[in-house]
Amino acid sequence: MKFSVAVLPGDGIGPEVTQESVLILDEIGKLYGHEFTYAYGPVGGVAIDSFGTALPAETAKIASKADAVLFGAVGGPKWDDPSAAVRPEDGILGIRRHLKLFANLRPVQVYPELLEASPIKPDILKGADFLVIRELTGGLYFGKPKKRWETKTGRQSVDTLKYSETEIRRIVRVAFELARGRRKLVTSVDKANVLETSRLWRQVATEVASDYPDVAIEHMLVDTAAMQLVSNPKRFDVVVTENMFGDILTDEAAVVSGSMGMLPSASLAGIPDLDQGKRTRGLYEPIHGSAPDIAGKGLANPTASILSAAFMLRYSLSLGTEAMAIESAVAEVLREGYRTADIAEGASDHLSTVEMGSQILRRIR
Ligand code: NAD
Repeated sequence: MKFSVAVLPGDGIGPEVTQESVLILDEIGKLYGHEFTYAYGPVGGVAIDSFGTALPAETAKIASKADAVLFGAVGGPKWDDPSAAVRPEDGILGIRRHLKLFANLRPVQVYPELLEASPIKPDILKGADFLVIRELTGGLYFGKPKKRWETKTGRQSVDTLKYSETEIRRIVRVAFELARGRRKLVTSVDKANVLETSRLWRQVATEVASDYPDVAIEHMLVDTAAMQLVSNPKRFDVVVTENMFGDILTDEAAVVSGSMGMLPSASLAGIPDLDQGKRTRGLYEPIHGSAPDIAGKGLANPTASILSAAFMLRYSLSLGTEAMAIESAVAEVLREGYRTADIAEGASDHLSTVEMGSQILRRIR
């Protein structure tokens, strides 16, 4: 089959890790008889330098036309001035908006070989394997009014936390659909003891659950969830939550796995129905940033980006077998002891970005 992929490498280590993913996709193409064509576009700081905007219209067009988007990372000290009119992050926010991506997926899987790399005790962590789904377009980050004003007694400000039934329903459905292909437990996280939006969230989540009698639902307060993620991560299968809770919980969940260089993510514009082979538009990126401290040194771990490419095959291109081939190759490389510096735990012997990419590539069958 033929697929077009928009490749937006961005800044810092973005281009280094994304290049490895492209090579992996080429290998998948060769072995499984697919043809991937790539359209490259500038985004983030490099786009600001050349076009004065973090998301040039041409890049947005490339992304819209493609079957899926492979994204690197944006940002860096060069563009860090807080008073700047344009910022690299506008690139990722802009493209999410442009492609109407509303569901952010971050799987957290702990490889037995990397148990020691996590700050959490190995016996608590062993076997943890869950997926966090965060709503991306609503909630406190976007609600209006959002402003600051002066009063006689000092400054005041307001942000607005607002969710519609439709927004809640569509994200909770993503969780249930994906739970069907996993261990069939959805944990819906809210703060229903205090927040009205959370009470609506809980009610709608319960309604959606009745359409999925084969999947169990539990409701959990966000404070309890924050505690359970580090004290008993094994209890989770699919966690679904609103924008800000998700922002915080997904970073906490990242710590569980031990390294930023290992975790992929997907942002989707629709509900994937894997049984029906239904595709959805999506953007796939490692969860890490542009890591300016190691950029250009060949030290970046390409695994998160490569696993993001696997995600892309599964959710946007309906190539589940091919996705698994990449995931198995990553697991094999780790089992055989190959490590980049970030997961080498003090060992002097470690692979470069390109070497790690090649080891994974060689094990794809
Ligand atoms: P970061 O994720 O770039 O780096 C945090 C730490 O993890 C650094 O020590 C880095 O060297 C290490 N690290 C990250 N990815 C790695 C990899 N693949 N292999 C090995 N080590 C890795 O976060 P930061 O330092 O807070 O941010 C740097 C820049 O990235 C900032 O400009 C920030 O705004 C931006 N950022 C962008 C995104 C994105 O594009 N989606 C996400 C987060 C941060």
